[in-house]
Amino acid sequence: MAKKWALALHGGAGPIPGKDYSLQEAHLATLLQNGAERLRDGEAALDVVEVMVQGLEESGLYLAGKGAAPNLDGAYELDAAIMDGRNRTAGAVGALQGYRNPVSCARAVMEQTPNVLLIADGARKLLANSGLAVIDDPDAYYDPVDELTTQDMINPTGTVGAVALDIYGDLSAATSTAGIRGKTPGRLGDTPLPGAGTWADERCAVSCTGLGEYFIRAAAAADVSARIRYAGAGLEAAVQGALDDVRMLGGQGGMIAVSAEGDISALWNSSGLKRAMADSNGRFEVGTFG
Ligand code: ASP
Repeated sequence: MAKKWALALHGGAGPIPGKDYSLQEAHLATLLQNGAERLRDGEAALDVVEVMVQGLEESGLYLAGKGAAPNLDGAYELDAAIMDGRNRTAGAVGALQGYRNPVSCARAVMEQTPNVLLIADGARKLLANSGLAVIDDPDAYYDPVDELTTQDMINPTGTVGAVALDIYGDLSAATSTAGIRGKTPGRLGDTPLPGAGTWADERCAVSCTGLGEYFIRAAAAADVSARIRYAGAGLEAAVQGALDDVRMLGGQGGMIAVSAEGDISALWNSSGLKRAMADSNGRFEVGTFG
């Protein structure tokens, strides 16, 4: 019998009601298919979540990677995190400028430094010899100049994330964002903070989206694991509980999660969640609203 695997992606919470997201859904479906094949073929969850988030970053369809919007000073400051549930190693970058794939920068922090989170110029300088793809002209790279992004409907929105269980039973999570449109320079949200916007351990892998300040205050991503660990909750109940806590604080957003058992949960308390889910039982779903 085939070994269990599970994969979920998101392209951000709070889609605008009435807006057409068919392009994003088609893109999510293509990525999901690719990720599903990788997991089925035995690729590690950690590699798959990185590749998935790279694909989301490169698309220009979301407020992450190429689709980033500048902060109030006109600078593009990006955040990302990746976490390996096998040993809870994690890497993250905050307010990073000049790199094409913040998620891969986060992985480099995890694997090439003794640190977990590096920010701004310190991160940029440290990664300079890492061989990671850089952006020479930010205004040209991020500007919506290609055919795709000049379409009226593409006003990139949404943080992006991926969570996966591989056939070896290992879990990983990754999240990437430019944060909140028009954010204060130097502002970090939940995305690059393990435990807040991104989490993976031996029980579950979680990626969050929404107003980060609330997810930080709720320790939302790690709370999903805590509910499984201490309260014996199933995945769906754990995600719902964590999201209810965010709501209790006044926050809105969504979360995707997979468990060590291969369950998948995607919940939101906003207008919707751009999402995609597949597993070894043949599940393959893409959606934006209810
Ligand atoms: N959580 C992200 C942040 O606060 C934003 C989002 O998910 O849309 O930076």
